[in-house]
Amino acid sequence: MMTVQEQEEANGAHATFQVLSPVDGSVVGEFRESDAADVDAAVQRAAAAFPQWRDLPVRERAKHLWRLADVIERHHEELARLDTQCMGKAIRDSLVEARRCADDVRFWAGATDKIFGKELADIKGRLTYTKHEPLGVYGVIIPWNAPTISFVNRSVPALAAGNTVVIKPSELAPLSALRLAELFAEAELPAGILQVVTGSGGTGDLLVRHPDVRGISFTGSVATGERISLAAAATFKKVTLELGGKSPIVIFDDADLNAAADAAILGVAFNAGQICSAGTRLIVHEDAQDAVIERMLATSKKIRVGDPMDPATHIGPISCQRQYDKVQGFIDRSSGQGRIVTGGGRPAHLADTPGLYIEPTIIADVGVDAEVFRQEIFGPVITVTTFRTEAEALTIANDTEFGLSSYVWTKDLGRMFRMIDGIDAGVVQGNTPQVMNAAFPFSGHKNSGFGTAYGVDAIEGLTQIKRVTLNFSDEPAQLPWADLE
Ligand code: NAD
Repeated sequence: MMTVQEQEEANGAHATFQVLSPVDGSVVGEFRESDAADVDAAVQRAAAAFPQWRDLPVRERAKHLWRLADVIERHHEELARLDTQCMGKAIRDSLVEARRCADDVRFWAGATDKIFGKELADIKGRLTYTKHEPLGVYGVIIPWNAPTISFVNRSVPALAAGNTVVIKPSELAPLSALRLAELFAEAELPAGILQVVTGSGGTGDLLVRHPDVRGISFTGSVATGERISLAAAATFKKVTLELGGKSPIVIFDDADLNAAADAAILGVAFNAGQICSAGTRLIVHEDAQDAVIERMLATSKKIRVGDPMDPATHIGPISCQRQYDKVQGFIDRSSGQGRIVTGGGRPAHLADTPGLYIEPTIIADVGVDAEVFRQEIFGPVITVTTFRTEAEALTIANDTEFGLSSYVWTKDLGRMFRMIDGIDAGVVQGNTPQVMNAAFPFSGHKNSGFGTAYGVDAIEGLTQIKRVTLNFSDEPAQLPWADLE
């Protein structure tokens, strides 16, 4: 595992990339663009470490991960700062995520001895059962929006299942990944089981195409997911895809409207709305629309946008210039598709700073054909669309290529369960803002991907099944042609 310093020294004449601060454009760091030789070396180191890691008694594997959890816990504030420095997430949000990491690692440590096969019904004197075996070297590619927690919850489950890992963080936020690699060493995990390569999409592609990588966990956009799926097919890798979202929040008129409205606006404020599962399409009963918008507006006025390192700040800048231009472009093009109730761009008090700030933005009267309704914006923007009947609410909620998360607010239990059955998404959350927990499965339907992250269900994508059939009777096993016996 290379330290940050070794990385910097190794950079030498090698191709590099820079991370620029979204607060002032200054250079946060310069990093190695890992090439084919780097990726191959990382894969070979992980492959060399695999047999020993796979064959460790699972309780020993767990003990390593428990130690890692303690080290991460001690360093969580530092990890949070590194994320904020790179991609501008308000430090309070970075801390919420970094604080969770140690417990998530402990969950995965506890999962090491809960990887179960099955015994299958078979004839007398013969035993048939399945085993879940690790895949080998497992490649992990993560985005920039939640660097530390994505690193932990994509790499540690793979390790818990007995794989070794090569991980590529986003080119926008590699700092915490490099520091986490150091923390693995500090926790005295076996050398080689986790390798970090840095670089952009090209480096990720090298990892996906490497013949000795047997599985890929990808978290990122739909477009990249499609590319990775195709590239991984050439070597028949097992792939898990956690992709984008455009999650509906359906609010019926009998709901606790204040709670629903607060959850809706805070859902796109947390991490400046750069959350795959954020509820970004508010679908509200026409009789409740005014009350919900009024409350969202009042709450949005209390949200402080500004310096992400200030603990009082709720929303920092958008992660990078490209993402800022994309979000602002969606807002600018929305005139004619809806009515901007609040926000729409840079807050007045930050007019003279170079930071990439965008206020929480509510766009009302949005129809289902509007670009802002259909496409993932990945910024602090929520659209409002109305409905009259339950059937109409369900149709609008499902009118999307995505199927990641969803939120329903109603006090009518029958209606709640009908919506739960009808919504085509991997997660439905009723009368609550987003709940994330390493123990709860998280997966996309439709273009939001396939395979499961989180929860013991994730083990399926991290292992391969071996079926074993064993004759233990004293009778010789039956041959298919009885006349040869
Ligand atoms: P992205 O797809 O641009 O990049 C994600 C990662 O893939 C980066 O590390 C990037 O370098 C790498 N990459 C790019 N091209 C590649 C290629 N051809 N081969 C291999 N790797 C390649 O996404 P992003 O902008 O970093 O992240 C935002 C997206 O991630 C949003 O769509 C968001 O919804 C999604 N996301 C999904 C989840 C989830 O759990 N479903 C979680 C977080 C973010």
